[in-house]
Amino acid sequence: MNLAFPPAPVVTLEAMSSNPFPVRRIFCIGRNYPGAGGAGAKGEEPIYFMKPAGAMAQNHSTLLYPTGTADLRAEVEMVVALHKGGRDIPAARVDYDYVFGYAVGLDMTLRDALEHARSEGLPWERAKSFDHSAVCTAITPEYFCGNIAAGKIELTVNGEVRQSGNVADMLWKIPEIVHYLSTRVELFPGDLIYTGTPGDAGPVTRGDVVEATVAGLEPLRVTIG
Ligand code: MG
Repeated sequence: MNLAFPPAPVVTLEAMSSNPFPVRRIFCIGRNYPGAGGAGAKGEEPIYFMKPAGAMAQNHSTLLYPTGTADLRAEVEMVVALHKGGRDIPAARVDYDYVFGYAVGLDMTLRDALEHARSEGLPWERAKSFDHSAVCTAITPEYFCGNIAAGKIELTVNGEVRQSGNVADMLWKIPEIVHYLSTRVELFPGDLIYTGTPGDAGPVTRGDVVEATVAGLEPLRVTIG
């Protein structure tokens, strides 16, 4: 087929002992740890928003500092990568049939723009969906690490611990999240899900080195440019 111009290249993530993982879409879950973003307990349904695949930044990169903010945040999140999609996916089948693997991600956020959006009832895109707003490490396939339901999750800035928690404390568990999303939209292979962040990370600024870990997964390290 002749196109009006060449299509954008597929965004990929490295995957241990596998061909690269082609990223289709990025879903992000909000308020998924006790106390994070005002969350106390599970609400009626998970809160989610999206970032475009083109917003992805690779591990070990230098991030563009976004325009129009004085309060950039880096939120550590465990990322789940799907290699099977569908509608109305049963929660009990998610772990072994749908999860390709796991990675460490940063949900980069313009906190000032987010507060403005919340107070004015505006969309979240300006606060969440800018260039380099989704950082992700290489994926560790599920056949290496098994299903991850617990493990330390931590973020440091210039060596100082800013966030520390355990993925076992997620309010909505991965099978519930995948099931829920699949009742709202059709999921596809290549979809990534950022599963929420434990607590407040504080602001980052140009020159900061941000490191993030989830037990058993490749560590993340980026510089704020
Ligand atoms: Mg987040």
